[in-house]
Amino acid sequence: MPASPATRPAVPSRLPDGVAIEPITAFKDNYIWCIRAGNRAVVVDPGEAPPVLAALRAASLQLTGILLTHHHADHIGGVAELVRTLGPVPVHGPVDERITEATVRVREGDRVVLEAMCEGGLAFDVLEVPGHTSSHVAFHGHGVLFSGDTLFSVGCGRMFEGTPPQMSASLDRLAALPADTRVFCGHEYTAANIAFARAVEPDNPAIDAWAATVEQLRTAGRPSLPSTIATERATNPFLRCAEPSVARAATAHAGRALSGPVEVFGELRAWKNTF
Ligand code: ZN
Ligand code: FE
Repeated sequence: MPASPATRPAVPSRLPDGVAIEPITAFKDNYIWCIRAGNRAVVVDPGEAPPVLAALRAASLQLTGILLTHHHADHIGGVAELVRTLGPVPVHGPVDERITEATVRVREGDRVVLEAMCEGGLAFDVLEVPGHTSSHVAFHGHGVLFSGDTLFSVGCGRMFEGTPPQMSASLDRLAALPADTRVFCGHEYTAANIAFARAVEPDNPAIDAWAATVEQLRTAGRPSLPSTIATERATNPFLRCAEPSVARAATAHAGRALSGPVEVFGELRAWKNTF
């Protein structure tokens, strides 16, 4: 029987030597993250198959598993074709009947162990983070977070199936992960998110510093990701709803008093939708 969350040892805080995480770009601004060790690979949120098949072929990689954060087509749409083309692999995804492709259902407190990837396997703890969708999960292990469309760099996903209390609680949990956790999210939205963050907090120097880095990376044609939890705590307005500067800006935008961080969060999320 697997050890319970309370008694099992923590996942190491770094990736084993030889394991790398590489982006596969998809659609307009999606990232399909490819965890790679030797000639083995696991992909996260393959919304479409062709770019994954091309990347695997180019590097002679064997697909050994798939992780899914949520049911949206731009995150799961490629699974059927990948499995059809490459043969069956474990597909770890949340408990949601809209994700028919998942073969291993994951819940809060579960630990996914990707046995084939290296000696001892790669381990990721599952966090249920509802809000963007009702069954959204994130995967955390080895100092890495796959946050899907819950936490973006300097932003967060739209609340399609959640409430402000739910979504802000989910974001608070991710913000509480170790500061040096590297954040691999589902979309390249960072520059647009920075524009919004500057409107909320024009005097936050951490936003300027991160903006300069992001601009350099994007100009060089590289992803702005991964970010880190430290960077997100310092720059992401949706993680900063308790900061007086953020609360002030949200209150001014709302034109009425807001009763605390969750209301501030709700106002920010609504503001961003029309920004
Ligand atoms: Zn989504
Ligand atoms: Fe998405």
